[in-house]
Amino acid sequence: MSAPLLSVSELTVRFPARGGRTVHAVESVSLTIAQGGTLGLVGESGSGKSTTARAIAGLQAPTAGEVRVDGEPFGPRSAPALRRRVQMVFQDPYSSLDPRRPVGWSVEEPLMLHGVGTAAVRRARALAALDACGLDPRLSLRYPHELSGGQRQRVAIARALVVEPELVVLDEPTSALDVSVRAQVIELLGDLRRRFSIAYLFVSHDLAVVRRVCEQVAVMYLGRIVEHGPREQLFKAPQHPYTRALLASVPTLGRELAPPPLSGDPASPLAPPPGCAFHPRCPHRHEVADERCSLEVPFLREHGTSRVACHLQATPLTPR
Ligand code: SF4
Repeated sequence: MSAPLLSVSELTVRFPARGGRTVHAVESVSLTIAQGGTLGLVGESGSGKSTTARAIAGLQAPTAGEVRVDGEPFGPRSAPALRRRVQMVFQDPYSSLDPRRPVGWSVEEPLMLHGVGTAAVRRARALAALDACGLDPRLSLRYPHELSGGQRQRVAIARALVVEPELVVLDEPTSALDVSVRAQVIELLGDLRRRFSIAYLFVSHDLAVVRRVCEQVAVMYLGRIVEHGPREQLFKAPQHPYTRALLASVPTLGRELAPPPLSGDPASPLAPPPGCAFHPRCPHRHEVADERCSLEVPFLREHGTSRVACHLQATPLTPR
């Protein structure tokens, strides 16, 4: 089996906060993505998925652990030739488009930064990228505010693609779009992936979108991956109590799952609970002996084709 394109090992990101406290944004996250593979990273807001995405894209230095691309250490200080292989698309296209420049310039800009080709070559590549993203190249002369939200997101995708990356990290790329435009952008992403064999790390709180786009899915809760497995396995037979609660909260996905009685909100990443971070809300914690759930962090262990971080993993969950 060939080495994965992306390999993340024990990635940890912490930020200093007021009063000498620490935000535990990402804790010991390990994952891989194969060449041309797709991994969806899901979880509620504050679960650490966007920080994980930024660290993987080399926009955030990890506190500990490492990211490797094709076996090479990858981060904010990596050589431009390596950085070029991983690109990011944000929820808000204005994050990557200069409002004072025509959008064609913003698509060309990464080629300029990487010193690719002559002006004529860069222009031709930018127009080709816009065309690949379903935009009339004549739109290259328009300014971001003159385009619709869907067109702006297509331009942002063209800007990521123009340097021919092998991995694109997409952080909630369709969340700001209305439903019909969202479906078109999702179709475009699938089409681009097939044409150019790009791998995706797709970050979203929208489980239905992740189910359409991603072959593998990882669920995050308070900075940790709690379940990671193939899409069909995870959506049809979720193992972790939090995954079950998350799916049951989406009527179109979790109809067959009775919603478990989840109480309270997730804890703050400023003060994650000891043991399993989900234990204050978990309806199954009393099924584990010796108060292990509140004392001992459960680590991901193989469970069929998935990996699950739960002390109950060895015994089937009782329906709730
Ligand atoms: Fe619930 Fe315990 Fe499993 Fe955490 S380890 S999800 S508290 S049963």
